[in-house]
Amino acid sequence: MQFKTLYGPVRSGRLGLSLGVDLLGKRICSLDCVYCEVGPTRVHTLERRVYMPARTILEELHSWKRQGLPKPEVITLGGLGEPCLNTELEEIIVGSRAIFPDIPVAVLTNSTLLHDPSVRRELATTQMVLPSLDTLVPEEFVRINTPCSGVSLENITSGLLELRSRYSGRIFLEILLARGINDTPKNLTLLRDFLPKLGPDRVDVVTMTRPGASPLAEAVDQRTLTAWRVELQGTTDPKQDIEQPAAIQAQDQIQGVAQDLTTDAQRELVLNSLRRRPQTIDQVREALGLGTEQTRAVFADLTAQGAIQHAQELGEDFFQAAP
Ligand code: SF4
Repeated sequence: MQFKTLYGPVRSGRLGLSLGVDLLGKRICSLDCVYCEVGPTRVHTLERRVYMPARTILEELHSWKRQGLPKPEVITLGGLGEPCLNTELEEIIVGSRAIFPDIPVAVLTNSTLLHDPSVRRELATTQMVLPSLDTLVPEEFVRINTPCSGVSLENITSGLLELRSRYSGRIFLEILLARGINDTPKNLTLLRDFLPKLGPDRVDVVTMTRPGASPLAEAVDQRTLTAWRVELQGTTDPKQDIEQPAAIQAQDQIQGVAQDLTTDAQRELVLNSLRRRPQTIDQVREALGLGTEQTRAVFADLTAQGAIQHAQELGEDFFQAAP
């Protein structure tokens, strides 16, 4: 079965082996970030609608389970835009937990809808929310995130604080730094003052490691990243608190599962993963637990068929599904 709402699993630095779920189906978002990995926003909106029916997503999750495809460590709701824009969010969360009761559900969000009490209520049954907040400086916010009409930094910060006050799951805040845009002392000071009020369970300060939407988005250097991590996380290594043994265990569990699939099924899994995120051969191999030669053979086949494309970005060889 070709999945249209599931992608991966991909190994995420923050979550481990993650099966992504797309709640939008198209590039629909309340922001249009310069670093966005899925390209420029096509529908720039704050309007909540059924962009992808819960029924479609839950049928695909059932099918994933029935086919015995690699079991993820986490189901991550996100996709081609802002998942909280989907009004069937709660049904999707509850349904995912019913299909995979032992797998936690996480939601990636750009934080622009968290001031809405119904969105916070819908998120209440997840185990993790991963909001992003790149800057608290209004001019930088416009440059890096390009908000649609109706989005404000005031609503974002108040929504985050409201979420924290009631939510019993974990909040992993991400701050992405782009060179010359939000890596300023003013932003650092404002974030340093705000974070103790928010009290997230973890703060990840990151920069671009994959090709983004705009050539204007440039990664900050390692020195800047380290300085910000020391200031905001009290650490120099964002991965130090990731439970590596669990990740390795899970990797052991999926070893052999993807390896035992037919070549067609392996090709479909790899293509599925590359449809939503550009990745290197090693990233895909590690996430799917395939052997080195198997992975290279699948990539060679997909390249020969014109199903994937190669690009040299940020000094590495990335592949993504052909449009
Ligand atoms: S919020 Fe996320 S999906 Fe939306 S434009 Fe920014 S990076 Fe892309």
